[in-house]
Amino acid sequence: MALQKSDIIRAGLETLYHSRLYRMFEPSWRGLGAVFMLHHIRRRTELVAGFHPNSCLETSPEYLVKVLERLQDRGIEFVSLAEAVERTRLGENASRFAAFTIDDGYLDNYTNAWPIFRKFGCPFTVFVATKIIDGTAELWWLALEKIIAANDEVTACVDGEQNTYKTSTSAQKQSAYQSIYWYWRGLPERDQRRKARNLCACYGVSLERLCRSQAMTWDQLRELNADPLVTIGAHTVNHVALAKLEEGDASREMTASRQRLEKELDQPVDFFCYPYGDPGSAGAREFDLAETLNFKAAVTTRKGLLYDDHGEHLTALPRVSLNGDYEDLKYIELYLSGAPFALWNKFRKVDAT
Ligand SMILES: [Zn+2]
Repeated sequence: MALQKSDIIRAGLETLYHSRLYRMFEPSWRGLGAVFMLHHIRRRTELVAGFHPNSCLETSPEYLVKVLERLQDRGIEFVSLAEAVERTRLGENASRFAAFTIDDGYLDNYTNAWPIFRKFGCPFTVFVATKIIDGTAELWWLALEKIIAANDEVTACVDGEQNTYKTSTSAQKQSAYQSIYWYWRGLPERDQRRKARNLCACYGVSLERLCRSQAMTWDQLRELNADPLVTIGAHTVNHVALAKLEEGDASREMTASRQRLEKELDQPVDFFCYPYGDPGSAGAREFDLAETLNFKAAVTTRKGLLYDDHGEHLTALPRVSLNGDYEDLKYIELYLSGAPFALWNKFRKVDAT
C-alpha cells in the first residue's frame, strides 16, 4: 500500500523526537501557549476494519485524559479562549497556557468530552455550525465514508467522468475515499453539496439521519453553555469553506451563525472558527472579515503555537490538532517545543496570508 501522508509526518516526528533535536528549538519556539483542536471525542469508529478515513477527526477519551494530565504535570495553565487571546494580545508570557477548542457541535462533546474537562477544571470552547445542531447539515465526509464502507463498488462522477471504484478491501476503500473526497473538497460549495446529495440518494444514505445521529441538540448545547467552563463560538451555518464563496455570502454565513447562537443562548458570541480552516478555505479576506464583524478572535486549522506577534493577527490564530492519527504523548512534548511547527511553517511564526 502506498505510504500515506500521515505515515510520512509520523516518521518526521519520530526522528525529531528520538534525535532530541526538538529541544534546540524550545528556547525560541515554545511560544506563549497553545490552542488545541478537537472534533469528535470518542473511541475510533471503524465501519470496516482498517478503513477509517476520518480518524484524524477523532480523539479517544483516554488519550484526552492523558494529554490533560501531561499538561498539568508540565505546569501548563488551562485557560479559556478569551484568556488565551488576551494574553496573546498583551504578549504576556508569565506562565504557558493551553486553551481547548472543539469544532462543529457533536454529541460526543456533550457525552464524552464535557465530563473529562469538568474533572480537570479545564475551560473549553465549542465552535458550532448551527445547521449541525438543527440536524440538517450535510456531513458529506461522513456520508462518503459510510457509502464506501458499505459497498464493494462505488460509482461517482470525478473530474467530469463517471468512475467506478472497486471498494472491497480496506486499501481500495481508502483509495476511493481519497479520490472522491479531494475532488469534492476542490469543488465550489454548491456543486460539492449537489454531488454529495446525489451519491447519498443513489446509495440510500440519509444525510439528515446521519447529521441527527452525530449532533448535539439545542437543549444539550444550552445545558453545556450554562457551565462556566464552556464558551460557545460560531462556525458558520452550513459548515462551508468561506474562501470559495462571494464575500457577501461569506459574511452572511459568519453573521447568521453568530446571530442564531446569540438568540438561542441569549448571550454575545465573540469567537469564530473557519470551517476546514486550511489556507484554501480561509485566507486574508476571511481574516479581515472576522475583524470587520468584530469577532474578538478567530481560529484556523493552520498548525502552530501562539507567539507575541499573533497579538496583531487575532483573527488568524493557528491551533494544535489532537488528531486521532497521532495519539502518543511524546508528540505532545514535540508540540510544546514548537519544533514541528517551526519546520512545517518554514520558520515563520505568523502565517496570516
Ligand atoms: Zn468544522
